[in-house]
Amino acid sequence: MLKIGLTGGIGSGKSTVAKVLEVLGVPVYYADEAAKELMHSNELLKQQLILHFGKETYFEDGQLNRKHLSSIVFNNKEKLELLNSLVHPATIADAKEWFSKQHSPYVVKEAALLFESGTAEGLDYIIGVTAPIALRIKRVMDRDGVTADEVKRRMANQVDEALKMKLCDFVVHNNEQELLLPLVLALHNELIKRSTEQ
Ligand code: ATP
Repeated sequence: MLKIGLTGGIGSGKSTVAKVLEVLGVPVYYADEAAKELMHSNELLKQQLILHFGKETYFEDGQLNRKHLSSIVFNNKEKLELLNSLVHPATIADAKEWFSKQHSPYVVKEAALLFESGTAEGLDYIIGVTAPIALRIKRVMDRDGVTADEVKRRMANQVDEALKMKLCDFVVHNNEQELLLPLVLALHNELIKRSTEQ
């Protein structure tokens, strides 16, 4: 079974590509969602977060106090790196366990910070999704109801997309020149083929 990473910058369309692959029957692990879930359910991770970020990290009912955590890591690179260094290993372990339960020619791990987090290791191929920056900004503005400045601020926290794409084995150009579905179908066929050659 091939393990495939799927990444791209904010608004590139990686979740859209992941959803198409799911429709085709491919199991997809959503790393960002899993990380959020693990911050609620993984006892060891919870203890580590409390140790480093204070007991206010969780409300009395056990729910994560996102505002508290965001206020600490916002504009503080060191604290953000510390948070990531705690959350990413938990996500890697969780994904590994999830992979072991899947039965499919290939499985996909979707993550915005695939390279930054070191979670690209152990994957057979990486798919990058890219789109022109103006289009990404417009799509996120429409999706999240936010201003262009807000989208640009979020983008500034990520590694340059062109640089990311150079590290990918396959690149999906999610622009307005070509339809996305045929591109994803072609990629799916290629990955099925490669899985049989394993
Ligand atoms: P983020 O990192 O912010 O979660 P993402 O890379 O997962 O972003 P998506 O959520 O998949 O991006 O796409 C951003 C928005 O653009 C969504 O509302 C999606 O429906 C829309 N979109 C993506 N691709 C296309 C396309 N080819 N045509 C039209 N709309 C698209």
